[in-house]
Amino acid sequence: MLNTAALLPSLIEAVAKTIENNAEELTELDQAIGDGDHVANLQRGIQALMAQSGALSQLDWQAALQKMGMTIMSSIGGASGSLYGTLFMAMGKNLQNQPLTLTTFADVFLKGVEAVKQRGKADKGEKTMLDVLIPVAGQLHQDATKPSQLIDLFEQVKQAAIAGAESTRDMVATKGRASFLGERSRGHIDAGAKSSQLMICALVDALLIWSDYA
Ligand code: ADP
Ligand code: MG
Repeated sequence: MLNTAALLPSLIEAVAKTIENNAEELTELDQAIGDGDHVANLQRGIQALMAQSGALSQLDWQAALQKMGMTIMSSIGGASGSLYGTLFMAMGKNLQNQPLTLTTFADVFLKGVEAVKQRGKADKGEKTMLDVLIPVAGQLHQDATKPSQLIDLFEQVKQAAIAGAESTRDMVATKGRASFLGERSRGHIDAGAKSSQLMICALVDALLIWSDYA
């Protein structure tokens, strides 16, 4: 697939754009059952990644993913910083010296999500970003092992992300700040699940455009 992370600047750009375009909705979600800082947290991380994007694009994927993980962890802070940071660092660590292909990506993404579960001591059904990350990792892993059109695979990944975010609406939060509200957390989509969904959909769309020209 790609030996270097030359594609990274456009992927970071796609993520920045979707967070910007949906900032109001995301902030409202985090205000409803959290503390309202989720967008500001994400944007701090995105800015830090943008500042490094030239340097990142010179690295191989393993080094780029690890560097991104460290940058995210140190710039975002809060729950989401350490969780997203863990995701990227674990992906880089597990990629080792393998080339990044659909199969290796599906494998390291699954391992990255496992690391997030451990770090957050959380699992599916607790009304967090994991309600998006776990089904997306499962879908990707399942699809990557059987031959299918890239466009179908991307669409299924997006649908898994959208369904995962929506599924958090009726859940009671048992992790993170929203858990302090108990039953009152029900009825709102989790901000971290929604932002994960938006970022995954934006990444998939950016990759689709790129693969059209590849
Ligand atoms: P903070 O909660 O520190 O204000 P953010 O607002 O940036 O941080 O992120 C909150 C999001 O982090 C939540 O919406 C949820 O998706 C996710 N989250 C919080 N705690 C956990 C956890 N233990 N495991 C997984 N995700 C979590
Ligand atoms: Mg918050």
